[in-house]
Amino acid sequence: MNHFEVRGGELHCEDTPLSRIAESVGTPVYVYSRATLERHYTVFRDSLVAAGLGDPLIAYAVKANSNVAVLRVLGDLGAGADTVSEGEIRRALAAGIPGERIVFSGVGKTRGEIEFALRAGVSEINVESEPELTLVAEVAGGLGLRAPIVFRVNPDVAAGGHAKIATGKAENKFGVSFDEAARLYANASNHPHLKPLGVACHIGSQITDLAPFEAAFTRMRGLVEALRAEGMTVERLDLGGGLGVPYFDMPDPPGPAEYAAMIGRVMAGLEAIRFAFEPGRVIAANAGVLLASVVHLHERPNGEGGGRRFLVLDAAMNDLIRPAMYDAFHDIRPVIETDAAPVACDVVGPVCETGDTFTRERMLPPLGPGDLVAFMSAGAYGAAMASEYNSRPLVPEVLVDGDRFAVIRRRPTYDEMLAAETMAEWL
Ligand SMILES: *Cc1c(COP(=O)(O)O)cnc(C)c1O
Repeated sequence: MNHFEVRGGELHCEDTPLSRIAESVGTPVYVYSRATLERHYTVFRDSLVAAGLGDPLIAYAVKANSNVAVLRVLGDLGAGADTVSEGEIRRALAAGIPGERIVFSGVGKTRGEIEFALRAGVSEINVESEPELTLVAEVAGGLGLRAPIVFRVNPDVAAGGHAKIATGKAENKFGVSFDEAARLYANASNHPHLKPLGVACHIGSQITDLAPFEAAFTRMRGLVEALRAEGMTVERLDLGGGLGVPYFDMPDPPGPAEYAAMIGRVMAGLEAIRFAFEPGRVIAANAGVLLASVVHLHERPNGEGGGRRFLVLDAAMNDLIRPAMYDAFHDIRPVIETDAAPVACDVVGPVCETGDTFTRERMLPPLGPGDLVAFMSAGAYGAAMASEYNSRPLVPEVLVDGDRFAVIRRRPTYDEMLAAETMAEWL
């Protein structure tokens, strides 16, 4: 459920008409609903608690939508942060999320980043390989402390909405194998600068079927029990993120309640463990839209009474890359409703690449220059993946709360866009 609805013939975010935001901030612009973010987080947490999973650490995956105001909304509800870089840890801290609720993941953490994370007092560093374990031990030794670590295990399960976002197969770069995990856990348990807390997995993103989760989580439970049988202390089990969301081009995927109930079954009777989760998309995706304006309607006849109709928008692949990168589907809605019969359009942006096509032959009501459209379900992996490609200023972001809204990232000026670049002296 989300708070984007048509009222009086116009698409609103909560009690705010989207046209009001377009008038004031211009387009393209991302618009997020505070109430939807809060609802998604609360439903996720309550589902886990109802399934008997205790008081889990819910570390929102910052990479899905890393705006500091979004992090503040979630942090105020008690969310932690799953981070993959020093920049993301800094964002979480800036939003007021304390180190003890921060998880540091990622396959290529640098020495400097590990030091920063340890100084920030993160809850767990998710170690992805043996060389990384050595590096964490070295950095922790230099600081004279014991690094809280969790081993990210690759459960060798295929899952995920697209090959580029599947992470849980043995051939993917993520995590250690089960055998390595047992050996490294034992080594780390005896190390003066390492404190192994438990194990983690994250098998992919936009997973719309519970079976691969169940397979992976069953293996993870087995690993916890095997480690304990060898005398090791295991107090944390981090089950990652990856739960899919409806993008409205297929039947609704299982929701948090079914996901949580399945985990409750798989983990029944497992004692003395704190669960951690790293949801990103399921919290943010349907809490945001990308609002864009029509620049042109270009009809190219084929001489036989047919042809193609291109709806050229002021938003492009640099603002929302999911269609180009993952062949992703986004529902596109006109902001002002009409009864006019829909026609098939290719919806494209102005960037000089054929990949800058959001969709082909989508049935949309007739639209013309200046009309507003909203890309639905764009709150996750939207603004966070935006770039300045084609020297288009980074897309701004707005947060709505009822009938008020705030610009939470403004559109940079062209001067700002050029400011970081300098001419080589010898030119
Ligand atoms: C990307 C990622 C997540 C979040 O995935 P979603 O599909 O957005 O829930 C969680 N954990 C790790 C380690 C990730 O890389």
